[in-house]
Amino acid sequence: MRRLIYIPFDHLHEKYGALKGADPKSDVVVLVESARMTTGRPWHPMRLFFLISSARHFAAGLEARGFTVRYIKAATTIDGLKVAEKEYGSLPIVCAEPSSFRQFTALREYGVEFVANDFFLTSRELFTQWAESQKSFLMENFYRAQRLRLDVLVPGGKPEGGTWNFDKENRLPPPKNYTWPAYLEHKRDEIDTQVASELGIDPGTTWATTRKGAQAQLKYFIKHHFANFGPYEDAMALDNWALHHSLLSPYLNNGLLHASEVIDAAVAAYETGDIPIASAEGFIRQVIGWREYVNGMYWYLGPEYRENNQLKAMQPLPLVFRDSSKTKMKCVQTIVGDIEERAWVHHIPRLMVLSNLALITGTNPQEFLDWMREVFIDANEWVMVPNVIGMGLHADGGRMMTKPYAAGGAYISRMGSYCKGCAYDPKKRVGDDACPFTTLYWDFLDRNKEAFAKNHRMFQQNNGLKRLNDLDELKVRASEVIDGLAHGEI
Ligand SMILES: Cc1cc2nc3c(=O)[nH]c(=O)nc-3n(C[C@H](O)[C@H](O)[C@H](O)COP(=O)(O)OP(=O)(O)OC[C@H]3O[C@@H](n4cnc5c(N)ncnc54)[C@H](O)[C@@H]3O)c2cc1C
Ligand code: SF4
Repeated sequence: MRRLIYIPFDHLHEKYGALKGADPKSDVVVLVESARMTTGRPWHPMRLFFLISSARHFAAGLEARGFTVRYIKAATTIDGLKVAEKEYGSLPIVCAEPSSFRQFTALREYGVEFVANDFFLTSRELFTQWAESQKSFLMENFYRAQRLRLDVLVPGGKPEGGTWNFDKENRLPPPKNYTWPAYLEHKRDEIDTQVASELGIDPGTTWATTRKGAQAQLKYFIKHHFANFGPYEDAMALDNWALHHSLLSPYLNNGLLHASEVIDAAVAAYETGDIPIASAEGFIRQVIGWREYVNGMYWYLGPEYRENNQLKAMQPLPLVFRDSSKTKMKCVQTIVGDIEERAWVHHIPRLMVLSNLALITGTNPQEFLDWMREVFIDANEWVMVPNVIGMGLHADGGRMMTKPYAAGGAYISRMGSYCKGCAYDPKKRVGDDACPFTTLYWDFLDRNKEAFAKNHRMFQQNNGLKRLNDLDELKVRASEVIDGLAHGEI
């Protein structure tokens, strides 16, 4: 044997990373199920199920195609590699560049050789070139450059449909009396059953654990949900947990699908004429824009970025994040309940409910980040860090986003259907039945008024704050709410 090829659990694709050009005759493929990964933190069991079962299926698939595969359980990844070296001798160990700073350093220090990480459409070098040519890191500018560079819906260098951005058409509230198409259910096999029984869970049928299943999910999304993805992409519905979202992030992030496959399928569907441009553009923006931008920013901003806490937020994580029964807030209760069930909610609940709550309560960013990493099925370090520290909690002082995504109950009431069944009133900011989001929104602006005084994008909010005539009363209520959240009494 010539080489050991180490495959982390987020590089599960035969045509990319270190497996590209691998030879079953001379390469041994090594996967390590490390205790650090499985028991190091209170991970959501569904997340563990998905990651472990996908890796075991992938290992079995490679073996069936003639590779020598060692799937090793060990305390740490390095311990696992040592076991493989004992068995096969000290061969060169090859891996695609890992997707977190921590793993990058650990493997490099152990002497692992890296090949380029081509699980993204934008190399780290290319992103750095873009970032260094910018005054501010506006995603929109990056996205337009991506459309041109990757030649996606830009006939003659002009955006399809006459404009780059269909956001205005893509902000409808949840529809009434609407029939949502069913979601694809994924059957379980022996490997799934074994992993589920080791974890002591019922794995349900939401998440696939094979490439075939991931491909089926992509096909299903394109056929049943893509056309209506755009208009409702920001809506939050009480009667539906995924709306028209693709549910593809877990597979994109563990390698079962590559972004280029997703984009090719989306463009091909658009070209049949069945997909409105607003939906096509809205979806493509997420994949070649946001996803690539977030990965680029993670590497560009460096390992210290995750420790940012520029707003000096020190509150502990509200109890409700660990237990959905610890609140009367219908929106938070429903969303945390959905996470408990499936380890997933879509972008707007993550941003405008969960992160928003953490932001306006002044929750410590690193505590919130740890929680988000633990409970989401698609949470890899590279994607959670910029989304939480930069986008969700504005903990980086505005390096990534020029203004914080803080909002009161009015936003959640407009874009969601939770408020009617809630103990609180989104319009009220003081009193026992005031919506905690509304109270805390103004309190947040007041607590941070100096930090935002020179931010011209916050001008309107700052002015609104000056006009409040019940600020003293509101501040008393805000501290009751923060205290109540800490004890599960709100
Ligand atoms: C605070 C916060 C935390 C997040 N954490 C994660 C995370 O850990 N992992 C993750 O994959 N996404 C994360 N996102 C982005 C987004 O919420 C999810 O990618 C999306 O909800 C996944 O569901 P979907 O596949 O149905 O997405 P769709 O709505 O169908 O979008 C298609 C694809 O676009 C990509 N995408 C869209 N927005 C982003 C974004 N901001 N960052 C990266 N990719 C994006 C994803 O790959 C997604 O699969 C986070 C967003 C916020 C605001
Ligand atoms: S009233 Fe406030 S807490 Fe209740 S569901 Fe609406 S936004 Fe959420």
